[in-house]
Amino acid sequence: MKRQRAVILGAGESGTGAAILALKQGFDVFVSDNGKIKPYYKKTLNNYNISFEENKHTENLILNADIIIKSPGIPDTVDIVKKARAKNISVISEIEFAGKYTDAKMICITGSNGKTTTTEWIFHLLKKAGLNAGLAGNVGKSLAIQVAENNFDIYVLELSSFQLDGMKDFKADIAVLLNITPDHLNRYENKFENYISSKFRIIQNQTENDAFIYCADDDVISSEISKRIIKAGQYPFSIKKKVKQGAYRKDGKIFIKTNTKQFTMENGLLTLEGDHNVYNSMAAGITALLNNISDQKLKVSLSDFTGVEHRLEKYLKIRGIQFINDSKATNVNSVWYALKTVDEEIVLIMGGQDKGNDYGILKDLVSRKVKAIVALGIDNSPIFNAFKDIVPVYDTKSMEDAVKLSYQLADEGDNVLLSPACASFDLFKDYEDRGRKFKNAVRNL
Ligand code: ADP
Repeated sequence: MKRQRAVILGAGESGTGAAILALKQGFDVFVSDNGKIKPYYKKTLNNYNISFEENKHTENLILNADIIIKSPGIPDTVDIVKKARAKNISVISEIEFAGKYTDAKMICITGSNGKTTTTEWIFHLLKKAGLNAGLAGNVGKSLAIQVAENNFDIYVLELSSFQLDGMKDFKADIAVLLNITPDHLNRYENKFENYISSKFRIIQNQTENDAFIYCADDDVISSEISKRIIKAGQYPFSIKKKVKQGAYRKDGKIFIKTNTKQFTMENGLLTLEGDHNVYNSMAAGITALLNNISDQKLKVSLSDFTGVEHRLEKYLKIRGIQFINDSKATNVNSVWYALKTVDEEIVLIMGGQDKGNDYGILKDLVSRKVKAIVALGIDNSPIFNAFKDIVPVYDTKSMEDAVKLSYQLADEGDNVLLSPACASFDLFKDYEDRGRKFKNAVRNL
């Protein structure tokens, strides 16, 4: 019989992983990237003798595929994907593909903000409890390579809406939906409802035996749930109201309940600060109870988790001024939570590549807690326009200048907070580069 041909579009972490798994599963494999492939992935493909091309998509090597596995970074609107679909070739994501070759339990996390933090938190919890768990999705190694080379019983997967878009038959045993605020709308015909549907794909294919954990305080999620029939067991979490099953906060305590278990802990025991992290802890805690993790272990792992780099990361304190790196705050909503969490007075470094942000929801917090804004970006006019009538706004074009100026503007006891609300690509490689340059500049003060 002729071998099935799998073509992989995009040779990053997920594409290379998918290629290796496809090879192990007996496919005839070809990888095509219309950009340059990073040396590390080229070397990996060569090691496995997988044929590939870069800087182009050769149609006759692609459109003869039985299956196409597409990197989440490639939109559906590109030519080659449209042509493949027109020829009825199934175009799926790496997660969908990898999911077919494992029976491991899938814990999947999505939302507009908090995905990485919650994914890492759940992973931390499972590992500390001694479970044989893998971490994949947007973080670390691809799911496909782990399915090819490891033998985990459980995976904790961070899923972006782009990844969810490429999923059809995949099922989450436990689905976590943290929040939904407008983001990446350019990929969704600027329609918020399309983005909402994408996020709700996290529960597609779920049955009564599965679990759906979500934020009950999120109006967008609640309204969407009221329109749908949900088959899975529901575990809402809230800091505003009591829930029968799920998690809530009352009198400074966090309560977590499933139909067989109950757990209580002081909110103050969490190392991570802020209400957004209470939500994340609740999602992690419910997941833990559903995996039969003991109260004792759960309490320790909820308390000792110190978070992920570039997310409200308390860096150095210099002459009584605390520098906080929240470079991952690339949208307005996460800056709102940062401003809620960090004590005044704040010197706020923000700006970058504006995604058409509406800064309105920040104005009240800025006027109450922020003494100055240091705008950092090539075009700082959106920040000036939004805030100049509320606080002094300064213009900078480099991280060194932004940090030096913030240091001058801050007094002992103040916080200097980098929480940009924007993408980083105007001045930096990515948000991690921006966060590292912030920390370097602080070290050099
Ligand atoms: P994601 O992976 O979804 O981008 P991260 O965990 O990397 O989320 O956090 C991104 C930003 O959002 C950080 O600035 C962080 O402090 C903030 N954040 C974390 N959890 C939440 C939450 N539940 N709601 C809103 N903002 C959050």
